[in-house]
Amino acid sequence: MRFFYFLLVCISTLNALDIAISSSIIPNGKTALFEFKKEKNIHYNNVVVDNKRYTILQHPVDAHKMYVLLPISYYEKPNDKKVTLNYKDKNVEKNTMFFLRVEDAKYAKETLQVDNSKVSLDKKDKKRASLEYKEAMDIYNTSTQKSYISSKFILPLDTKITSEFGKARVYNDTLKGYHSGTDFRAKVGVPIKASNDGVVVLAKDRFYSGGSIVIDHGHGIYTCYFHMSKFDVEKGQRVKKAQTIGLSGDSGRVTGPHLHFSARVSGVQVDPLQLITLMNKNLFKGIE
Ligand SMILES: [Zn+2]
Repeated sequence: MRFFYFLLVCISTLNALDIAISSSIIPNGKTALFEFKKEKNIHYNNVVVDNKRYTILQHPVDAHKMYVLLPISYYEKPNDKKVTLNYKDKNVEKNTMFFLRVEDAKYAKETLQVDNSKVSLDKKDKKRASLEYKEAMDIYNTSTQKSYISSKFILPLDTKITSEFGKARVYNDTLKGYHSGTDFRAKVGVPIKASNDGVVVLAKDRFYSGGSIVIDHGHGIYTCYFHMSKFDVEKGQRVKKAQTIGLSGDSGRVTGPHLHFSARVSGVQVDPLQLITLMNKNLFKGIE
C-alpha cells in the first residue's frame, strides 16, 4: 500500500463522489481501505463484493469521512473484483461500480515437523478443535457497531519477527495450511501488549492456539494473541492500547515459545501487520 490516490466517480454533471482507495491492486491476504468524504445529500450505505455486503462506517476520528475495509482472503486467486458502491443521493438509491485487481502475494512455503499426536488428532481433540473454531468464527463474524479505537495500532511486542504471515505450511507432509499470523520472538513470560483499545472477547486455552486472547476493536476488526502462558485480563474486560494482557508462552501446537499475532476483518483472516500499517497511515495519520 505504498501509494494513495483519489478516485473521482462522476455520477452526473452535478455530483461527484469523493472516494480515496488505498490501492487498486491488492495481494491475497491483504486489506484494502476506502475512504469517503461526506457530501451534502449523499448517504453512503455499503459496498458489495462477491455478494458479501460491507457496511460503510463512520471514520473513527474524522467526522467528515466514512470508511470501509475490504479484506481479501488468502485463498483468493488473481482476478478483477467488481466492487459495487450503494449510496443515496437526495434519498434516491443509486449505485456505481469499480474494479479492484487481486494479485498473487507470492508467499513462501515452509515444511514443519511437529509432534505426531498433534497432527493426527484423536476423536476428542478433533471435536474440541472444531468447537473452538466455531466459537471463534462466531466472534469474528460479529461486527460491533461502534469503534473502540481512536489512535494508531502498536505491535504487541517489539522483538524480531520469526515467521511472517502467509507462508504456506506443510506439517509432517500431511496437514496443509498457511501461517495465519505474524510470529514474534519471545521466550516464556514476556509481557504482551494490546495492539489497540478494545474489549477482550475470548481468553481461554485452546487446542491449537494454546492460551488465546482475542480483542474486539469494533467495526468487525479483531486482533488475536496466541500461545500465551498467563492472562492478565478476562473475557468482557475493556483494555487500553499498550496495556499488558498477559505473558508469552509455548502453549498449544508450537515448536517453541513465541507470540503468534493475527487479525480478522469482517470474518476474514488478513496480514495483521499490513492491516495495522494501512490503518495507521491513513485513518490515524499523525495520531499516536
Ligand atoms: Zn504463528
